[in-house]
Amino acid sequence: MSPVKTSLVPFAQKIVTPLTKDKISVLQINLGRKCNLACTHCHVEASPKRTEELSAEVCQQLIELINRFPQIQTVDLTGGAPEMNYGFRPIVEAAKAKEKEVIVRSNLTIFFEPSYQDLPEYFARHQLRVSASLPCYLETSVDRQRGAGVYNNSIRAIQHLNQLGYGRDRNLIIDLVYNPPLPTNTNFSLTPNQQKLERDYKTYLAEHFDIQFNNLFTITNIPIGRTKQFLQRQNIHDDYLQFLAENYNPATLNNVMCRNELSIDYLGNVYDCDFNQMENIVATTPNRERLTVAKLLELDNLDVIQEIRTANYCYGCTAGTGSSCGGALV
Ligand code: SF4
Ligand code: SF4
Repeated sequence: MSPVKTSLVPFAQKIVTPLTKDKISVLQINLGRKCNLACTHCHVEASPKRTEELSAEVCQQLIELINRFPQIQTVDLTGGAPEMNYGFRPIVEAAKAKEKEVIVRSNLTIFFEPSYQDLPEYFARHQLRVSASLPCYLETSVDRQRGAGVYNNSIRAIQHLNQLGYGRDRNLIIDLVYNPPLPTNTNFSLTPNQQKLERDYKTYLAEHFDIQFNNLFTITNIPIGRTKQFLQRQNIHDDYLQFLAENYNPATLNNVMCRNELSIDYLGNVYDCDFNQMENIVATTPNRERLTVAKLLELDNLDVIQEIRTANYCYGCTAGTGSSCGGALV
């Protein structure tokens, strides 16, 4: 007899009290879907064929937001490949002029595309904090997830950034991001211990490539977008969610990234996080009005969301030691 499956406790029920926002200090902007890669795990479903990107009007509104609100400490630029989408450089330069921390989520291989070869020097000149995906320190795993040749290009790109001072100069920070391979059966596991894996990465990359970097962030695969489709094709999506739910850790709730960030899409719509953005779960005012960048400017207030809109994939952020764009949470 096959074991009886327990049904999933909805995340909203599990947390008992709805999640609320803290003061907003992070603006994460998804500049568009264009990317030079098309990774299997991409929750944004970005690729070279996508054309959606920021408009000039929304770009101006975002710059106004950055200029007007000193409470924004960090501007976090993502995509797609953020560097390929409209608005990347104007927003970087506006945010740096206001002395914000600017994070660029770069796939690094973009450095080798025509028209983007000046990016490493541009990053260094503006002291951008680079967050780069390197899902394993071994070549075969990276190329399987991200495409042939991606590992070697990533290594060459990090070496170039190191030569410019990244990983060595305290103002030039490069963090690497690990996400586990997608499961193909129900032998699920949580992300490995972040500190131990960081030591392994540092040892291997220094010995083999003389590479230095600052932090390694481990990220759980959130079951949305291509990840969800992949899990569904293996017929293990519900089991994966159940596994995450069984490992729910309430201690992560204080630090989930949606607490203090606004996630903005290329149309200027506002969400609690990038995952809600991909699932089109929009943020609203207490009067249930849809939030946009224009609306935030009109209200002259960034702290207008009360309850964070959660979904069952929030178990991905709260399982084990937790997961966010900045890695483990506890
Ligand atoms: S590099 Fe990033 S945005 Fe581009 S396809 Fe891969 S995961 Fe998606
Ligand atoms: S997916 Fe994660 S970051 Fe987004 S709302 Fe859920 S817990 Fe918050």
